[in-house]
Amino acid sequence: MKIGILGAGQLGTMLALAGYPLGLRFRFFDPDPDAPGHRLAEHIIGAYDDAVSLRQFASGLDAVTYEFENIPLALARALDASVPVYPSPRALDASQDRLLEKQLFERIGMATAPYRAVHTRADLDGAIREIGRPAVLKTRRFGYDGKGQAVIRTAGDADTAWGPLGGVPCILEGFVSFDREVSQLAVRGRAGEAAFYPLVENHHAGGILRVTYAPAPGVSPALQEQAVDLTRLLLDALDYVGVLAVEFFEKGGKLVANEFAPRVHNSGHWSIEGSVTSQFENHLRAVAGWPLGSTAQRQPCAMINIIGELPEVGPLLALADAHLHLYGKAPRPGRKLGHVTICDKSGDRVRERVATLLQQL
Ligand code: AMP
Repeated sequence: MKIGILGAGQLGTMLALAGYPLGLRFRFFDPDPDAPGHRLAEHIIGAYDDAVSLRQFASGLDAVTYEFENIPLALARALDASVPVYPSPRALDASQDRLLEKQLFERIGMATAPYRAVHTRADLDGAIREIGRPAVLKTRRFGYDGKGQAVIRTAGDADTAWGPLGGVPCILEGFVSFDREVSQLAVRGRAGEAAFYPLVENHHAGGILRVTYAPAPGVSPALQEQAVDLTRLLLDALDYVGVLAVEFFEKGGKLVANEFAPRVHNSGHWSIEGSVTSQFENHLRAVAGWPLGSTAQRQPCAMINIIGELPEVGPLLALADAHLHLYGKAPRPGRKLGHVTICDKSGDRVRERVATLLQQL
């Protein structure tokens, strides 16, 4: 079976690495000739609206998947007419636009922050009056790693936020004073069967994911059940196929949905070593129409992203049960260059080791 992957970055690369042992073959599509995936599989280089390159990409594929959600919807739909695209273009559509995403959450009964669509400066004033401050102004599309958003705390902040963001459709969201940020990863197969990874806790630095603890410390069975039930609503509403991640704010034991990603997710990288079946393998199993693998966790672990600068490799490789993944990308401030997963016998021990390692990375 040959699977096409739109995007040849680290997620696409880790998908291919997980798929080769299963006998799968891959072809990437990415406009960037240096995208890391070119080391692993055939790589069609072209713009996402270049019909000739896309035909070349689609030729002979059994299924297509994608590693990021900002691929043009029209492209996913056009491909889907000749080769199945998983997750479906419908899931892609909802995840690309924060307004549609919030409306979907609301429709299916997932709690989310109060929000208003904002198109003009006057809309923003109206939305602030209704939602109150603090609030977060976000562009509806193309925001990532905290980009395309600004917190409005004081009356004066409205102008400051509107300056760089206004001009494109936005939403204003109520600020959630959360206890912590968690995410739920899940996988759903073609027949509708689903499996769930343990809820994990995420820490960001400068808007970028820095550390994920798996499992999230102190998760009660009730909280885990809540995360699974809410995520299942989304999986079923979208008739979803593949791995999906939902980012939640946890506040007073309640989960408030922030956003979802229709793809493998940075907060699931620990599953390569920490789970019976990694998120990458399970995504491919779902896309290929094969039975899903167990999502049970083998042992407590944490993942630390390597951002901006490459570390010295030797000391990391000398650590017990630590697993280094470098993506083959050139260093640049704020760029995710790799990650380290630390596994140990207890969550407390993992946290101690992360604290030490964060001083070096
Ligand atoms: P996002 O791009 O929506 O994932 O937002 C990036 C980060 O900004 C989140 O991980 C939160 O830390 C913070 N954030 C986003 N939306 C809100 C909100 N409504 N209330 C509080 N913090 C938020």
